[in-house]
Amino acid sequence: MSRLPLASRTTDLVGSVIDSSTSLLARQRHDIVRFAMGSPAAEAVPSQLLGHLAATELAAPDAYDYAATEGDPRLREALLAELDGTTDRTTPERLLITAGGMQGLDLAFKLFVDPGDLVVVESPTYTNGSATAMSYQAQLLEVPVDEEGMQVDRLEELVTHAGRAPKAIYAIPTFQNPSGASMSIERRRRLIELTRRWGSLLIDDDPYGRLRFAGTEVPSLHELADGDPLVLSVRTFSKIIGPGLRVGWIDADPALQQLLINAKQAMDTCTNMPLQRLVAAFLEGGHLRDHLTTQQAAYRERKLTMQAALEDWFGALARWTDPEGGFFLWVTFQESVDTEALFEQALADGVAFIPGNAFSPSKFFPNALRLCFASSTPDRIREGVARLRTAYDHLVGAV
Ligand code: PMP
Repeated sequence: MSRLPLASRTTDLVGSVIDSSTSLLARQRHDIVRFAMGSPAAEAVPSQLLGHLAATELAAPDAYDYAATEGDPRLREALLAELDGTTDRTTPERLLITAGGMQGLDLAFKLFVDPGDLVVVESPTYTNGSATAMSYQAQLLEVPVDEEGMQVDRLEELVTHAGRAPKAIYAIPTFQNPSGASMSIERRRRLIELTRRWGSLLIDDDPYGRLRFAGTEVPSLHELADGDPLVLSVRTFSKIIGPGLRVGWIDADPALQQLLINAKQAMDTCTNMPLQRLVAAFLEGGHLRDHLTTQQAAYRERKLTMQAALEDWFGALARWTDPEGGFFLWVTFQESVDTEALFEQALADGVAFIPGNAFSPSKFFPNALRLCFASSTPDRIREGVARLRTAYDHLVGAV
């Protein structure tokens, strides 16, 4: 590598422990309960129905053309109709179809972050989000999260201490990845106030908001900001239909539309057309709402099963969060446990998770781990948590 004329920004390309776990797990030959990736279970993806719709949609000759960069008109229209009446309601001039949520984050950071700019991230945060900010050579400021989401008072203190305003604030307000926490409405309002005071960009990344299975809905940052140009929202179909589709959207101030289009044209021209058509047909048929209702019930059961299994196997050893939706539990051990070492042991013992430090650029969480309850059936969840206890006993030498 030393003789290659690499760009200096490559030193800030950190990769993703989460994404790498996909290939790591694919190489394993023994049975593993998968609590690592944040994916819907294979049986939770409406693949039969999608296959049925694909037979027509993917047989259309124009399904293989380049799409408009802002998105295929059919998908745009179906999406606008779908969002009508939800907290993410929007208008055509604010909408850009992207290759998943990740491309939305990439475009947001690309447009707003210069090398050395301060970017606020939650702590813990979604690894790939902070990695994207780093890929534009941001300097990250981690702000702690508690059961009401980002601690906005701490945000104010930490920014004062940093002595300069953040260029961007990256927030995952609902069923946060990885903690499962949701930001209270008071904190959401206060966060928008601070954003306005500092003139920062607020990135509202909310892939899980439609997967609520308990509690009452809180308005999105998008809705509370009421069209403020400083708020850019990133959404995706990955968690509500299937992540392999790689279809999502950005909702941004209309004045940004052309810049977003220019940036996307310099990146991938357009989002892939056949899958935009497939998602459009799924939405047009009114299938998303039924699908969400089924998923919410399944995920509620899975979360409760995982919490009960944790109580059985780790009652006095750890504590965990209690999300009202989404995919994740965040587990923190009472005594010091190296969860990166536990990961190796757990893999050998047949269960996978993501170690806490993957969610903190400064590695503040050696003692924690993230479990995805969405991907496994209740029986497999019970089995996986029992295996995790076996791994724990192997690691601490109790067996
Ligand atoms: N943001 C968050 C908080 C996520 O959890 C994810 C997916 N794990 C993404 C963005 C990226 O979504 P996509 O897979 O659609 O790129």
